[in-house]
Amino acid sequence: MQQGYRQVPTVEEAGLVLYNTCSIRDKAEQKVFNRLNDYKKLRKQGKKFGVLGCVAQQEGEKIFEKAPHVDLVCGSASYRNLPQMLVQLENAPIEEGKRVTGLDDRMTDECFETEFTARTNPHRGYITIIEGCDKFCAYCVVPYTRGKERSRTSASVLDEARQLVDLGYTEIQLLGQNVNSYRDPSGNKTFAELLATVATVEGIRRVRFTTSHPRDFGRDIVEVIDATPALCDHVHLPVQSGSTRVLDAMSRLYTRDEYLERISWIQAAKRDISLTSDLIVGFPGETEKELEETLSLMDLVGYDSVFTFKYSPRPNTPALALEDAIPDAEKARRLAVVNDRQKVIGAARNRRHVGQLLEVMVEGKNEARGQWVARTSQIKVMNFTAPAGVQLATGSYVNVLVTGSFPNSLVGELACGSDLVG
Ligand code: SAH
Ligand code: SF4
Repeated sequence: MQQGYRQVPTVEEAGLVLYNTCSIRDKAEQKVFNRLNDYKKLRKQGKKFGVLGCVAQQEGEKIFEKAPHVDLVCGSASYRNLPQMLVQLENAPIEEGKRVTGLDDRMTDECFETEFTARTNPHRGYITIIEGCDKFCAYCVVPYTRGKERSRTSASVLDEARQLVDLGYTEIQLLGQNVNSYRDPSGNKTFAELLATVATVEGIRRVRFTTSHPRDFGRDIVEVIDATPALCDHVHLPVQSGSTRVLDAMSRLYTRDEYLERISWIQAAKRDISLTSDLIVGFPGETEKELEETLSLMDLVGYDSVFTFKYSPRPNTPALALEDAIPDAEKARRLAVVNDRQKVIGAARNRRHVGQLLEVMVEGKNEARGQWVARTSQIKVMNFTAPAGVQLATGSYVNVLVTGSFPNSLVGELACGSDLVG
């Protein structure tokens, strides 16, 4: 934007196409090359193409070999160089050999600064506080594509939070692969202290953070949520499996009991903290009994929602050495079993809200259904009605009486006397 670029809705209208990629699951690389192939014909119209993200980081120069019409490859570790790379690209004639690469690995950086976090919701601002990962779970490509863990100073996080308030944001989400592994390079604040400080910046009404890693999840995080109203009552704490044997094979660094102990701290909080998780089914060697352990853990925790994945072998990862012998159809069956169980758990969890008065942030209106769409502090979707003629601004906070629930959403009515200006 600062360099005069403007987003356009379609590839056809664009002069420069930046294709962002993720390599966390599936046959990501193949999908990227198939898509790039589709773009080939657009090259004749003079468009330039860039590939960004983790597949760019992982495949590097190979992208130019396999897709010669690509002009720029910028790995996920080099986004801060993107503005200069675009200048170089603009000055380069469209011909082979004039490409720009940015594949720094920043493996040795202790600290990073970035202002390039995408913000698509005008009221929910995202701040990346930690990048990379040092955990090396056996199945995961992130440590190879995103490099070593590096945190930003608490002062720079706070500065950015204040800037976001000046721009009109009232909700801040702190981001990191393992957000709670945050280590302030200036040594001033623990993660819990950073949460408390961001939450007390004037003008901020909600603070979220994701993703938390169970190994680094301390009681101080629960205490700070209890003590700080602006911290949302939600913790995303991916477990991956309910079996200690599988967790060990995954190198997750905690056992089932250690995970459940952390859950018990969260459940003992004064606030009603919503719990969500990520689960992988079909990790090499996972038995039916071990899948049952995942199901029983889901019952014990009572997640509000879970993201579920079939194990997919990723390049460079230690799990590649294990035989991926569980057929895809069996992984799909296990996924369905887990999803079915979550539907039952999620439905029961959401029923408890019926009759409650919840504060929500308005995100828009579904005109066809005549319902307003909003999010609760627990980040649940709330569809609600308001009396005819009432107009609610996007980003405003109002109270809604919950009148019904589904496994993945709540329904309600605008409460009388709601603070309509938010
Ligand atoms: N750092 C976070 C998660 C980051 S990746 C954590 O450790 O919890 C997001 C999710 O993608 C993971 O939690 C995991 O459930 C899933 N995932 C990562 N690699 C995967 C793979 N090879 N196969 C299937 N799921 C995977
Ligand atoms: Fe991947 Fe594990 Fe790091 Fe999460 S903690 S990003 S799953 S290696």
